[in-house]
Amino acid sequence: MHDLVIRNGTVVDGTGRPRFEGDVAVDGGVVAAVGTGAARGRREINAKGLLVTPGWVDVHTHYDGQVTWDPVLAPSSWHGVTTLVMGNCGVGFAPVRPGQEDFLIELMEGVEDIPGTALHEGIKWRWESFPEYMDALAQMPRLLDVAAQVPHCAIRAYVLGERAHDLDLSDDEITAMARLTRDALRAGAVGFSTSRTILHRSRHGLVPGTHSKPEELLAIGSALGDAGHGVFEMVSDLQGQEPDLSWMRDFCRTTGRVLTFALAQSPIQPMAWRETLARIDALDAEGLRIVPQVPCRPTGMLYGLQSSLHPFITHPTYRNELADLPLAERVARLRDPAVRARLLAEEPTTGNPIARALMSNWSHIFPLGDPPDYEPAPETSVAATAAREGRRPEDVVYDWMLEREGRQLLFAPLANYVDCNFDALREMMLHPRTVLGLSDGGAHCGLICDASMPTYLLTHWVRDRRRGERIPLEHAVRLQTGNTAAVYGLPDRGTLEPGKKADVNVIDLDALRLHAPEMVFDLPAGGRRLVQRVEGYRATIVAGEMTYEDGQETGARPGRLVRGRPEPGAR
Ligand SMILES: [Zn+2]
Repeated sequence: MHDLVIRNGTVVDGTGRPRFEGDVAVDGGVVAAVGTGAARGRREINAKGLLVTPGWVDVHTHYDGQVTWDPVLAPSSWHGVTTLVMGNCGVGFAPVRPGQEDFLIELMEGVEDIPGTALHEGIKWRWESFPEYMDALAQMPRLLDVAAQVPHCAIRAYVLGERAHDLDLSDDEITAMARLTRDALRAGAVGFSTSRTILHRSRHGLVPGTHSKPEELLAIGSALGDAGHGVFEMVSDLQGQEPDLSWMRDFCRTTGRVLTFALAQSPIQPMAWRETLARIDALDAEGLRIVPQVPCRPTGMLYGLQSSLHPFITHPTYRNELADLPLAERVARLRDPAVRARLLAEEPTTGNPIARALMSNWSHIFPLGDPPDYEPAPETSVAATAAREGRRPEDVVYDWMLEREGRQLLFAPLANYVDCNFDALREMMLHPRTVLGLSDGGAHCGLICDASMPTYLLTHWVRDRRRGERIPLEHAVRLQTGNTAAVYGLPDRGTLEPGKKADVNVIDLDALRLHAPEMVFDLPAGGRRLVQRVEGYRATIVAGEMTYEDGQETGARPGRLVRGRPEPGAR
């Protein structure tokens, strides 16, 4: 008798193998058998007509603070994520010297738009070193598995103090950073992360380490080689082009470790991603593992009256008279024809040219709708609608923002949507060396909500896409399970095979429905965040225990801190 049998499902096992009708049997939290005719289970799930997949492994999240007070980590856990990796993009909360807590919070708030007040109230700081942070995480019961990377900003702040942003470092300082990284990896960090983009700023300017020299990165990188495990993760504007490529190559050559970075189709150089992938193919031929992370929908902002940004947020009438009113009152005032006329006669007052351009990029602002449309046709943009109706774009967008009692969201794709379709994204997703990433779960609370990407992969790419080719089910599942687990050296999960961890989703693909994101105010200190609900996950199972049943949390807490370990054969 097995502990649990998921019977007669359509098994898509995460290896890329064709789907088959069969059973998944679980004993002791581990997959005992996959096939047909499984013995009886103490508990059985009738999965007839349902998909049975591995739990999703999301390698790009920012729950580093939330993970210390919240065992559930929604919305990721709502969407079938059973393992998530945090500590991405160089920001996080350990190591930390007493007195530096506020600085690390300000970096996280600036880069990832997580309310600082929520972090202040939520984090209890029961650690100083990274190993102590890991121990604090390990002690807490949780719904799903979490893994942590050690962030460059925290290491720099710890070693350099007030000089955290300096570029000219002594050998001793570089050695100290490498030593801290090594300690973190030995304690089970699954990687090291850094930011090399000018888009990531806080009130202190570019985040520490943005322009770190190759010798610093390579010295820290050598800690990964010494530890025999761990990924080097970065977010970069260069996206694997020169001059970054030369130290990336050196890193891989000397350490044998994986380097992963965020790849996107940029509106400034719309074809550069292809060149980058070609270079990575060439390096792969030399045995060097550089893994671009790509999202399964455009990285886009959601403008709305409750968001951090929208086209009227710096108009004087809005800023001075309306911004602080409760939503219902704001909507009522905005509907007043006199307010409308006055506001629409004004101009944005921001001195930030990037913000100004984003807020009026009318050809790339669309109504998101419910169900949300993340691949909107160009003729539905603000610009196209305004031209068709002979109105100003501002008039159109003003009306849209008042829909759904002021809760309507507008989708403003930043990257991966240059041609207003997903053809480039699809090519990136199907490239043999990319993995899915960039859900940014837990981050960008006031403007982006992409933790639902694993669900969207099925609803859009496998089932609904009309504006181009879809992606086969088996491939899509592998992208979010076997492939992501493999890149992060988590060999015990990611596929449904005997001996693997019993992390499973049972999904009604026909009924799978993604709702529009909504703003909730449930972070500590009433902090706001966008969340996105879903229907159609019939069960989510972590280590053999059901954590969600028909969308309802069961209260089970089988999640653990995952500690990285030296990989067999690492040099
Ligand atoms: Zn990130």
